[in-house]
Amino acid sequence: MKDKTKLITFRIVLILAFAFLLWYAFSPNENKINNSIPNEELIIPSDNNYNSLSSLDFLTTKDEFSNTYQIHYDHMPVTYNYNEECANYFNGKYPDQIKRALDYITNKTDQAITFEKTDSSKPDIMYNCDFEHGRRNPLDLTIAEAFENYYENIYTFSEIRIYSTEMCLGKKPVTLIHETLHLFGLQHFGYVDYDTPSGYPLQVGEENVMHQETTNCFADISQEDINYLKTIYQK
Ligand SMILES: [Zn+2]
Repeated sequence: MKDKTKLITFRIVLILAFAFLLWYAFSPNENKINNSIPNEELIIPSDNNYNSLSSLDFLTTKDEFSNTYQIHYDHMPVTYNYNEECANYFNGKYPDQIKRALDYITNKTDQAITFEKTDSSKPDIMYNCDFEHGRRNPLDLTIAEAFENYYENIYTFSEIRIYSTEMCLGKKPVTLIHETLHLFGLQHFGYVDYDTPSGYPLQVGEENVMHQETTNCFADISQEDINYLKTIYQK
């Protein structure tokens, strides 16, 4: 009796394994392709494969900027919108601050990256000023956070949540610049990423707008980060 139970169990396992193999063989290609992309290649391209179209054939989505492994927007201008709290924040001047942050990125990239305000509830980038509402931990002192979404290596609807006042408002909205640049793939300054493969900082601490705790109201985007963005978006 016991042996028979074992045999039946074994058969069921065998049938399940076979069913899984069948499912895997006939499931849509994207699932498998996504799994087969080494994560590092999305973050650290070597100079050799940077512009090699032939090695990008695995991607089902092609666009005018798809000469790169990097996650990117597949169109320009990038659309943005903000919620009502943002519209009213800073005596109603916060939308100007957003615009200033975006103009900064446009100017620094020599117009390679441009932005357009939309009324859509699903823009490329949504600014959300619910303050405490979206904060994951009430005791957290984070000023703002960027939440990126992408499919394959194309950005989709992404969001920036503003949690508290930044001290550079009215001067240079460095927090807005910092968070927006996260949504273009820029990592925190000093971390190992595409432009500083050794992790060695090329620009000193707080002068870099991608410093993790940007408090310097004169902080700037590094030349390496500008070059990276231009490599993808300049035509
Ligand atoms: Zn950050």
